[in-house]
Amino acid sequence: MRAAAPSLSSRTMSVAGSPVREILELTGRPGMISFAGGLPAPELFDAEGVRAAFARTLAESPQQALQYSTSEGVPALRAAVAGRIAARGLPTDADDLVVTSGSQQALTLVSTALLDPGDVVLVEDPGYLAALQCFAFAGARVVPVPCDEYGVDTEALAGLIEREHPKLLYLVPTFQNPTGRTLPEARRRAVARVAERHGVWIVEDDPYGELRYEGEPVPWISSYPEVSDRSVLLGSFSKIMVPGLRLGWLRAPEPLRRACVVAKQASDLHTSTLNQLAAAHYLADTDLEAHLERVRAAYRERRDTLLAGLPAALPEGSRWNRPEGGMFIWAQLPEGMDATALLTAAAAQDVAYVPGAPFYAGPADNTSLRLSFTTHTPAEIREGLNRLAKALR
Ligand code: PMP
Repeated sequence: MRAAAPSLSSRTMSVAGSPVREILELTGRPGMISFAGGLPAPELFDAEGVRAAFARTLAESPQQALQYSTSEGVPALRAAVAGRIAARGLPTDADDLVVTSGSQQALTLVSTALLDPGDVVLVEDPGYLAALQCFAFAGARVVPVPCDEYGVDTEALAGLIEREHPKLLYLVPTFQNPTGRTLPEARRRAVARVAERHGVWIVEDDPYGELRYEGEPVPWISSYPEVSDRSVLLGSFSKIMVPGLRLGWLRAPEPLRRACVVAKQASDLHTSTLNQLAAAHYLADTDLEAHLERVRAAYRERRDTLLAGLPAALPEGSRWNRPEGGMFIWAQLPEGMDATALLTAAAAQDVAYVPGAPFYAGPADNTSLRLSFTTHTPAEIREGLNRLAKALR
């Protein structure tokens, strides 16, 4: 007689797998042109620069590079990241930072450090799916903040904060995933003031800010003095260097930073020493700005190719936005069309996108979809648009 193994945790059973990752599996099929995944263009990776950085790391400091290291992260990398943040207008020391295994881990650490089951987290609607999952795993109640084409409605936000007493507000204010939207400066200041008045943490996630193709940079919410003791800024090397290194960072005030370090000890002890040292060498030896200029030029052309082809590819009456940077365009099909149902027709034509519905924490707009323009060349984008036109006809 054998008793059944105990069940999975109730949290695990209540958090759904990401439909985006499932679609990514579908789009791995040969010949598929995918506007679905938010993947950087692999042919633009500076593989040679990364190879040289690893070679130098292993030649010069193999014993350090292959050893365990501190949970906070390798000092040389933290110093280099701090310098880059300070250069963008937010004074930062190496000790203000924790290196994380991708910025995704920073979301987990911040959730572990701040959230008790039942705590309320406010999110943009629609918002970044894997962050919604992360907050759900922490047992939080996720409450959507109404948004318009520029991001969160700050008046609605103030009302929700008074009513729901959230612990934190999670925002991707620049070139948001999934919508590509950017929160204007005046609204950022308003968010900072609301957070100051009501005592709420701001988690500002910015993996895309350096992918700006036009227009002027907007300050981080974290740079307003109103939130200096209650904002967390997350960054990532995934979109500016390579995602395979799994390197990100968080900038948080003590004692939250301390709590994140303890959570990281329990999670993975520390981020790969080898990868951190190689990234530090890369930043020291390579002109990242020049590399980014090449990436931006290519992505700008791809965005423009996609935008130019959408009028012919999407059914009459569709709408979409024109983000100044990032990786995504957000579109709505005509009233009554269902982007999830139509994905099967698209996949039959070997083209894919992500339906917008899963990104909503509130009632979904089923006509919406996310189109990523970074992964394919302009010629492939044009072909993908032809296929999309056939599928949606
Ligand atoms: N935040 C946002 C808004 C993202 O879109 C992503 C990746 N798609 C991440 C965080 C995680 O990125 P990474 O772990 O590669 O740094």
